[in-house]
Amino acid sequence: MTIRTFASTACTIFCYAYSSAVNKKNQSNLIRAHIKVRGIVQGVGFRPFIYNLAKLYDLMGWIYNSSEDVTIEVEGSRNAIASFKSDIITKAPPMSHIADLSIDFLKPAGYESFEIRDSIAEAGKYQLISPDSATCIDCIRELFDPEDRRYRYPFTNCTNCGPRFTIIDSMPYDRPRTTMKNFIMCPQCYAEYQNPADRRFHAQPNACPVCGPVVELVSRNGARIPCKDPVLQASTFLKEGAIVAIKGLGGFLLACDATNALAVTLLRQRKRRMWKPFAVMVNSIETAKEHCDISLKEEELLCSTAVPIVLMKWKTDSSIVEAVAPRQKYLGLMLPYSPIHHLIVSDSCIPLVMTSGNLSEEPIAKDNDEALLRLHDIADYFLIHNRDIYSRYDDSVAMVEGGESQILRRARGYAPYPIQLNFQCRQILACGAEIKNTFCLTRDNYAFISQHIGDMENIETLEHFQSTIDLYKNLFNVDPELIAYDLHPDYLSTRYARELEEAGAKTIGILHHHAHIASCMAENGINSPVIGVVLDGTGWGNDGNIWGGEYVVADYNSFTRSAHLEYLPLAGGDTATKRPYRITAGYLLSLLGDKALDKAISLSPQYYNRFNGESTESFHSALSPTECKIIKQQIQKKINTPQTSSMGRLFDAVSALIGVREVIDYEGQAAIELEMAAHALEEHSDIGSYPYAIVDSDGMQIIKLADLFSAIIEDIAGKQPRESIAMKFHRTVANMSVDICRHLSEQTGIKKVALSGGVFQNRLLLRQLTALLEKDGFHVITHRLVPCNDGCISLGQAVIANFSG
Ligand SMILES: [Zn+2]
Ligand SMILES: [Zn+2]
Ligand SMILES: [Zn+2]
Repeated sequence: MTIRTFASTACTIFCYAYSSAVNKKNQSNLIRAHIKVRGIVQGVGFRPFIYNLAKLYDLMGWIYNSSEDVTIEVEGSRNAIASFKSDIITKAPPMSHIADLSIDFLKPAGYESFEIRDSIAEAGKYQLISPDSATCIDCIRELFDPEDRRYRYPFTNCTNCGPRFTIIDSMPYDRPRTTMKNFIMCPQCYAEYQNPADRRFHAQPNACPVCGPVVELVSRNGARIPCKDPVLQASTFLKEGAIVAIKGLGGFLLACDATNALAVTLLRQRKRRMWKPFAVMVNSIETAKEHCDISLKEEELLCSTAVPIVLMKWKTDSSIVEAVAPRQKYLGLMLPYSPIHHLIVSDSCIPLVMTSGNLSEEPIAKDNDEALLRLHDIADYFLIHNRDIYSRYDDSVAMVEGGESQILRRARGYAPYPIQLNFQCRQILACGAEIKNTFCLTRDNYAFISQHIGDMENIETLEHFQSTIDLYKNLFNVDPELIAYDLHPDYLSTRYARELEEAGAKTIGILHHHAHIASCMAENGINSPVIGVVLDGTGWGNDGNIWGGEYVVADYNSFTRSAHLEYLPLAGGDTATKRPYRITAGYLLSLLGDKALDKAISLSPQYYNRFNGESTESFHSALSPTECKIIKQQIQKKINTPQTSSMGRLFDAVSALIGVREVIDYEGQAAIELEMAAHALEEHSDIGSYPYAIVDSDGMQIIKLADLFSAIIEDIAGKQPRESIAMKFHRTVANMSVDICRHLSEQTGIKKVALSGGVFQNRLLLRQLTALLEKDGFHVITHRLVPCNDGCISLGQAVIANFSG
């Protein structure tokens, strides 16, 4: 924060004050301050706040919003202006964020009133924009007060809360530049809007049942359901087991009763999502505590104005059915964040599944017609309204680990607030990765990371990506001089960048795992070299192989791959990723040969009949003799069989080998379920670990895995519970990682270790590895503000590109 203080400019003040003879007040005391405030200062009640502050200190002058900042001039006594300035910083409205405040002093102008002037749009300028914010306490009170004129009005908001980013199409922030432009305020709303003493003074989305947007309940074919209160009727349908698509802040959510197994299963079938965990919305923190063990820090995060989904320990006696998050020990809960949600959870009195309104991996539906078209096979009813959504915005997902919150999906409540960098950045567009894509635009010391865009695997997501890039470029006035992209040639984000290159743009390809580490460094403000542990699923390496179990020494300018998991065959490429038992078969064949594979297959059925009690596929039943033959041929003849050092795939291989998960329904499922199996034994410290070998190959440390797999097969033969095998495997990965870090630290003297990659969403591994590293005196750096998964890649690409030649 750069604040030019009164002291440094005091001389100027007196010169002007003494030479001026314009004001009828006591001239010797009179000064005029020209103040510029940058940060999130528009659309958050900043102008009324300043207006009231000026009134309090008897200051005359004006305020207006520009495309860059809020500009204020005040004239009055020196003491009054000092107090005024101090109050701006200490008492700013809750949704605001002051990044910079500067003051210049001018000759008094003889102002006789304080005015809020019209906003001024200036070419080339930009300012920060507030994310949408959860309904404030005052608005909730009005929402449930039968005497209030906004009783049960689903669009109640004020300057301290409500939609912002999702309704803005350009800056400066005023009603005509939002999707509220079509609603003309009624006299009562307009009076509030104009009254400096009112909470809705200059609240751009201000509305009421007389003049604002309205909700409507329609059937899946778009026919209006006749009812007096659409929200109440939707709640009734939900209680009866129906699936209702609800238009929220950033798009449609699909809701159903989270305590009704039939309803949840129906939603899964229709959405074609059999296993991926759903999030649940509950009406209060008290209800949340009935379903999860909630720490103080988790409670803070749940109740924050961003209101993310928080993954917390799921209580075994919770009435939320297992189908909501099958095989999970953690449940994603969130509180209501908009009036429509407050009404619906309070009317229905049940925990509600709230999952993105989309089919499988498509982007969330945002417009009424689009939702009816895309979701009519999923939802029974649609609770729609006539306020448009400008920007798609998924719910954010976070967790608390090591006493600190960590973002896993960054969207509603966080984006488009930038990550502040500790250096100046050129104007760059970084296109991100493929899965969990975000992009990043930089300028000055800001990295504007987009909200979670999604998996760039279909045309709808690509379009969402492109239109959101255009929106951000426009809102933050960025004209990129350089485009950064992932080196994977098949990523749609890479192809997008290459098309810009063909059109004449300057571009730079960035190694995936370098971007991971640079991202972790940038958000932590670290500019010196670190040891990087990057454990993830898939990243394109510069030797044409798929990397993912990487130990590196890097900073923004340089990247040395120093160690990695040995290369193993991924028989069938993507098919293997979706069918982890194929990875297991390929790994066993390659590491230990036919006999070991036969042994693993023969052990598998007896073993699981005894332990699982579930009718899931086993490694044995998933792998037919024919497929086994095909895998052998693929490996021998190197047909569609990339080599990989991926840690994600190693987790998959072990998961399938011990019968936890053979075929996946969503990315990371086999690894996640392996972690869940291990969690059962978390407190047992003497469980041991598996052997592995580290060999030196021309200075590169290679982690060999044959001993690990042999030992696991022995444990299966010895009828060890899969929970202990899972736990021992986690310990092994932590051990091998700390071994490598020790070695690299001896070579380089570096004691800082940055952890990145989707594998670190695994809380058990994160905890174990952090503890081991800290015990060895390492300073461990992790992601907090951006996800450790590929949602962080765009930030890393941008900062590396910035320091490129
Ligand atoms: Zn409010
Ligand atoms: Zn009104
Ligand atoms: Zn990655």
